[in-house]
Amino acid sequence: MKVTDILNQRMAFSFEVFPPKTDNGMEKLCGKGGVLEQLVSMKPDYISCTYGAGGTNVGKNLEVLDHIKALGTIGVTHFTCVGNTKEGIKQQLQTYLDHGIDHILALRGDLPFGWTGTGGDLHYATELVKFIRDEFGDKFTIAVAGSPEGHIACRSIEADISFLKQKQDNGADYIMTQLCWDMDQFRWWMDAIRAAGITMPVDVGIMPVLDAAATINMALSRNGCVIPRKLAEIISKYWIFPNPFAPNESEESIAQKKRDFKEAGIEYTIRLIDEYRVCGIQGIHLYALNKYEDVARIVKESGIKDMV
Ligand code: FAD
Repeated sequence: MKVTDILNQRMAFSFEVFPPKTDNGMEKLCGKGGVLEQLVSMKPDYISCTYGAGGTNVGKNLEVLDHIKALGTIGVTHFTCVGNTKEGIKQQLQTYLDHGIDHILALRGDLPFGWTGTGGDLHYATELVKFIRDEFGDKFTIAVAGSPEGHIACRSIEADISFLKQKQDNGADYIMTQLCWDMDQFRWWMDAIRAAGITMPVDVGIMPVLDAAATINMALSRNGCVIPRKLAEIISKYWIFPNPFAPNESEESIAQKKRDFKEAGIEYTIRLIDEYRVCGIQGIHLYALNKYEDVARIVKESGIKDMV
């Protein structure tokens, strides 16, 4: 079964995990009764695994994908151009195929700090999509990134959308989106990509709002995403960072605020999923952050399972 077939038939739902850096982290994710088994028990349509900038964790990425496949779920590998030669890309992609991994998210990749280019033979995701099609024909189902607010380095959102169309023209099959909390912008972008002739299914990436620092970091460290008023209110209400008005705040008070932030964040995430579901999208892709309990609660309370 291909992910595109599912997306074209009904609303899909999926998870994203990352390859842990430590053996302990691997055990928690891939071990018996671990996070992957718990995620699979929710019967997602697929689970994707990220790929470190410069291929720093290629071994672990493949190991995680092997586990996903062994659990009977489609594994989608993320893959980037950063630091990769054409020959190296060919070898790595053949290895994925040899392991039965035939779904790929083709990315340029985040450039390491101070770099001005990918340091590899390919410079943009458009080129990677074409390279995969030229070298491997239809062996891979290819997803590509879409940025509803525009990629942070794009010269204009119109240019960004035209590059997305080029990814489709080069053979990409579906879109996985960058996180976006600005729903007016998202609805505008959906209309704009369809008007531009982009017909690929849209699988929306959603980062659960569970932790204030991680939320701010994800929005601002690389992506320059808008933090809407409602989300800003939650961050303000449970502010845990240096606070000139409460310089001696107790650890217990901070811990309580973290718990309250998570409650409010889960509710916010569920409402966000409600809004996305009526935007003409084809799938919901939850960044599981290698966790299980909170994600399971979001899946259950949002009704994602009931709608598929
Ligand atoms: P591209 O589509 O190549 O775009 C990059 C920039 O160049 C944009 O500003 C675009 O407007 C411009 N551009 C594109 N094509 C051209 C062209 N032909 N000529 C001129 N300009 C062009 N990163 C990782 O390192 N590992 C991961 O596992 C990972 N997973 C991700 C998962 C998702 C769902 C998403 C949305 C992103 C992920 N990223 C990951 C981040 C991604 O690699 C970065 O956002 C990266 O900076 C851009 O990748 P891209 O594929 O969107 O690039």
